[in-house]
Amino acid sequence: MSERAAAEWQTATLTEVRRETPYTSTFRFAVPAWQGHLPGQHLMLRLTAEDGYTAQRHYSIASPPEDSGHIELTLDHVEGGEVSGWFHTVAEPGDEIEVRGPLSGFFAWPGDRPALLIGAGSGVVPLMSMVRHHRAHGLSVPLRLLVSARSPEDLIYAREFGAETTPVFTRSAPQGVPVGRMAAAHVAPLLAAQPEGGWEAYVCGSNAFAEHASRLLVEAGQPVDRIRIERFG
Ligand SMILES: Cc1cc2nc3c(=O)[nH]c(=O)nc-3n(C[C@H](O)[C@H](O)[C@H](O)COP(=O)(O)OP(=O)(O)OC[C@H]3O[C@@H](n4cnc5c(N)ncnc54)[C@H](O)[C@@H]3O)c2cc1C
Repeated sequence: MSERAAAEWQTATLTEVRRETPYTSTFRFAVPAWQGHLPGQHLMLRLTAEDGYTAQRHYSIASPPEDSGHIELTLDHVEGGEVSGWFHTVAEPGDEIEVRGPLSGFFAWPGDRPALLIGAGSGVVPLMSMVRHHRAHGLSVPLRLLVSARSPEDLIYAREFGAETTPVFTRSAPQGVPVGRMAAAHVAPLLAAQPEGGWEAYVCGSNAFAEHASRLLVEAGQPVDRIRIERFG
């Protein structure tokens, strides 16, 4: 990928909005000159008002690289949030915004090694790009996703998850499923059965969740230098 192209702003045209949960939607954009990305990377997004005022925010890319010429972002509606508020209450298909990227090679997963993905809330967004990439290529390299949400209604991408995913519910759960924080009981069994070459762990969520999940991983024996963390906080 060219560093120069990643540093340039490009026009992205909103083509579709899909509701995922009561507070989260996916926004699909056409970006004809997008140079591609690796699963896990994010971009910088810029909104410009008529008076020239601009607002910039980072957003993880939800779509896999295979979706060429398009990008999907999944945004939480943050209460009082300037940029997420605009997307959730004003934006409509045909609107143009600007994007720059992809950014952060560190959190990227090219699909070349076993991946243990752990996310909470919208922290699942970059991890979903990895899951979609894994499926698009029918990769045989092991991939597991542990995802924490408040309730089944708050579980982003719920319809898309398969056998690779274990959801953890912190406030309410379907009958028979325990309610509680992500714990050693979720992480330890995955580390007890290490795939060949060991797991590369990818953790994404709020600061508090990233601390909690990485502590669970280290306590279960995951080497610190094989834990990659993306913080949304
Ligand atoms: C690398 C990276 C990737 C990210 N990817 C995503 C993503 O895929 N999806 C996504 O929804 N967000 C993502 N974020 C967060 C995003 O960049 C914005 O911070 C978020 O959308 C809020 O922006 P805003 O303009 O709506 O709110 P602001 O106007 O900036 O903030 C409004 C108020 O909300 C508080 N606030 C800001 N952010 C949050 C938050 N996340 N949760 C709770 N309160 C908050 C602020 O302190 C402030 O009081 C990512 C952040 C980083 C650094």
